[in-house]
Amino acid sequence: MISRIDLRGSLPGDPRSVLPRAELDVEAALDKVRPICEDVRHRGSEAVREYTKAFDGVDLESARVPVAEIHKALAGLDPAVRDALEESIRRARLVHRDQRRADVTTRVVPGGTVTERWVPVGRVGLYVPGGRAVYPSSVVMNVVPAQEAGVESLAVTSPAQKEFGGLPHPAILAACALLGVDEVYAAGGAQAVAMFAYGTRDCPRADLVTGPGNIWVAAAKRLLKGVIGIDSEAGPTEIAVLADRTADPVHVAADLISQAEHDTLAAAVLVTDSVELADAVEAELKAQVARTRHTERITEALGGRQSGIVLVDGVEDGLKVVDAYAAEHLEIQTADAAGVAARVRNAGAVFVGPHAPVSLGDYLAGSNHVLPTGGCACHSSGLSVQSFLRGIHVVEYDEAALAEATARVVTLAEAEDLPAHGAALKARFDWRVPAEGEA
Ligand code: NAD
Repeated sequence: MISRIDLRGSLPGDPRSVLPRAELDVEAALDKVRPICEDVRHRGSEAVREYTKAFDGVDLESARVPVAEIHKALAGLDPAVRDALEESIRRARLVHRDQRRADVTTRVVPGGTVTERWVPVGRVGLYVPGGRAVYPSSVVMNVVPAQEAGVESLAVTSPAQKEFGGLPHPAILAACALLGVDEVYAAGGAQAVAMFAYGTRDCPRADLVTGPGNIWVAAAKRLLKGVIGIDSEAGPTEIAVLADRTADPVHVAADLISQAEHDTLAAAVLVTDSVELADAVEAELKAQVARTRHTERITEALGGRQSGIVLVDGVEDGLKVVDAYAAEHLEIQTADAAGVAARVRNAGAVFVGPHAPVSLGDYLAGSNHVLPTGGCACHSSGLSVQSFLRGIHVVEYDEAALAEATARVVTLAEAEDLPAHGAALKARFDWRVPAEGEA
């Protein structure tokens, strides 16, 4: 069901080459999404319509969802789901509100200041997945930080669902209504990312697209980065668990399965120094997978090249492995879990100890669940208020401060053979470059 990689006594300096990773990676998916994105660029709404028909089996006049449908969905929402979503929103707001940044002014010299002014992105497109599973929770995770950042124009897109007359899933529409979002599109995959990047008749272009998705969504984000801003490549889900013999194999197996449930390409990796734990988790996986609902999808994810149990010589080596892997989600289930977690350098989010499973973070911890995958956690962060802000340096110098800086600017401009740079300062003063030897 799940392969083993034994690195005991043979941990390479850079373990990345021997760690489990998906066969179909984002790079390989680029060839498939390039023509889709080009088509949307040139033919706009018509192309989006054709791909929605081809991939989602729905023929839509327009991808824009009527506002009345959004309110209707909220009216029909199961009260228990509404309660859970409202609490999820409340907790996410608490965390994301604290991420807001204040403008900072630094007095560099008397009369000279630089202020970093934080300005929200003007218009954002938020992607909410809806292929194999539907994710009203991803509406919360996208919209709350964007709102807390102060974004003014905010549009949500999610795949059209055949069984709901071509609308996105009603729970997604209801979550939009709860958050006060009324611009929603029924479009998924690469074509939805391209719709935001280039703009179409139905949907004005956005400055930034954020949100999780499958391999096609992640590939479109990589391809169109630059045309549009992106958050991170939040592709097929990954969980890594660093555990020692103190971990409970029932919990470890349940947590691995919980993330394998997302996608056949989802990755579940256990890193442990305990063969007893590895054996017990493997037995638990067999037993629990047989009892769960999406057995087929989970079995494929656990059996894929991207999943595995990695045996190491101790927690110290385990830390090297999980840092090299840079998982989207990393659970620490060891003795002194907090101490071990504090030493992790690369992960989208870290879940510490036995009472913080990844599923809690998926819905209700207050943390964000849109996180970098595919090793991108070594250079990217999960979605936050910061993702929706740009820092603008505002430079203010008075005449005396500029005069004091001029000689050095002229020197550096000459050193770079860009004398016009220096001249721009000299033009403001009756000033000449001191001759050699002159004070
Ligand atoms: P999705 O909305 O991401 O993808 C569905 C769309 O994929 C369809 O509308 C279709 O347009 C497109 N598509 C399907 N097959 C295609 C093909 N062969 N070629 C081109 N396009 C194709 O929904 P999903 O499939 O359920 O995937 C959701 C993903 O989001 C999962 O992989 C899950 O692990 C991931 N996820 C990631 C995070 C994160 O933060 N990293 C969080 C939640 C979910």
